[in-house]
Amino acid sequence: MNRHLSDILIHLGEDRENYYNAVSPPVMQTSNFAFPDLATFRAAFADEAGNHIYTRGNNPTVAILRKKLAALEKTEDALVFGSGSAAVAAAVLSQVKAGDHVICVANPYTWTKNLIAGFLARFGVTHTYVDGRNTEEIAAAVQDNTTLLMLESPNSLVFHLQDLRACADLAKANGITTIIDNSHCSPLFQNPADLGIDIVVHSGTKYLNGHSDVVCGVVCAAKANIEKIFYGEYMTLGAIISPHNAALIIRGLRTLEIRMQRHEESALYIAKKLEAHPKVTEVLHTGLDSFAQRDLAKSQMRGNGGLFSFHIDAKNIEQAEAFFHRLERFLLAVSWGGHESLVIPTVAFYNIPGMPDSPIPFTMVRMFVGLEDPAWLWEDIENALRGL
Ligand SMILES: *Cc1c(COP(=O)(O)O)cnc(C)c1O
Repeated sequence: MNRHLSDILIHLGEDRENYYNAVSPPVMQTSNFAFPDLATFRAAFADEAGNHIYTRGNNPTVAILRKKLAALEKTEDALVFGSGSAAVAAAVLSQVKAGDHVICVANPYTWTKNLIAGFLARFGVTHTYVDGRNTEEIAAAVQDNTTLLMLESPNSLVFHLQDLRACADLAKANGITTIIDNSHCSPLFQNPADLGIDIVVHSGTKYLNGHSDVVCGVVCAAKANIEKIFYGEYMTLGAIISPHNAALIIRGLRTLEIRMQRHEESALYIAKKLEAHPKVTEVLHTGLDSFAQRDLAKSQMRGNGGLFSFHIDAKNIEQAEAFFHRLERFLLAVSWGGHESLVIPTVAFYNIPGMPDSPIPFTMVRMFVGLEDPAWLWEDIENALRGL
C-alpha cells in the first residue's frame, strides 16, 4: 500500500524474473494450468482464489493488472471484468438478495439503471432513486431492509456529486454497503475508499485503458468483499477480461498520469473559453467556479478530467444540427476517456422515427476533450459557434 504512483504504473505486480526479465509482461494466453502432482492439484483446489487453475478464475497477466488497480484505488484487492457493466452488475448482485432494498442516485449510467430498475426487480429487490446531492434525502430513503447504497459521483451528463464521506458514515451507521461508480474521476482524481466507501467500480474502457480499443470493468474493495465476489459473481457469471485485453490495459496504464493531466488542462481551457462565449448559455464543468457543487468537488476530488457539458444558444433543432455539422475535429460518438475528442449531440435523440423526443434539451452538448492540442480544438468549436 501507499506505493508511489510511478512505481504502481511502471513496476508494481511485474515479477520480471519469472519471465526472462522481459520488460513488458507476457500475455499468458492460456485457459488452464497443469499441476506437477496430485498433492499440488489437491492443495490448489482448496484455494482457487490463491492459485492458477483456470483463467475464469486467475490468470498471471490479469493478476498484474489487479495489483496495479487495487493500489491505484488504495484498496486491498481488485477484480477485472469484460466490461464496466459486468463490474457494476457483479458488485451490485454481491450485496443483495430477494427482499432487500437498494438506494440509488437518480439517473445513474443507463445500464446501471437497467440493472437496478429492470433486472433486480425480477428477483424481488426493490429500489428508491434519490437526488444524491442531498444527503438528507438519502437518509430519508433508508428502510429496515436497505442493504445497498449505489453512488455515481460525479455522474456523466449533469455531473451531480454526492458527499462521499457523509454517505459512507450514513451507510455504516445503518449496516448498508456502499458502491460507487468512480469512472468519471479515475483513481487519479478521486479515491472513494479513503472516504469510507466500501466498493469502487470503474468502466476501465474509459480512462484506465485510454485508447478506445478495449471494453473492460474493474471492482476494487477490501479482501473479504473481493473474495466474496470472486467465488460468487466473478466465477459464476464468468464475465472475465481476456489475458490479451488485460495486457492492453496494463499498457494503457503506463501513460495514465500524463493523459489525465492533459485531459484536465485541456478541458478546463476549453470550458473557460466556452463560458466566456456569447453563444454559450451554460457550462457544466466540475472545475469551474460557477459549478454549483464546486466546494464539495474541491473537498473530495483532485481533478476533473476531460468530460463536461454545455448548452449552446440554439433557438431550434435546425440551429443545433448546424452547430454539429460545422464541428470537424470532434467525433460524434458515445463513450469517452480515449485519445480522441468526442461530442454527444443530444439533438440526435430528437426526430428518431417511432420514438418520443429526448427529455434532455437539444441545446445540450456533452463534450469529451481528448489528447489533441486544445488550441486546435478550440478553433474548431469557435468556428462551429460562429454559425449560430
Ligand atoms: C461507460 C460507463 C459504464 C459502463 O462501462 P462499459 O465498459 O461500457 O461496460 C459504467 N459507468 C459509467 C459512468 C460509464 O461511463
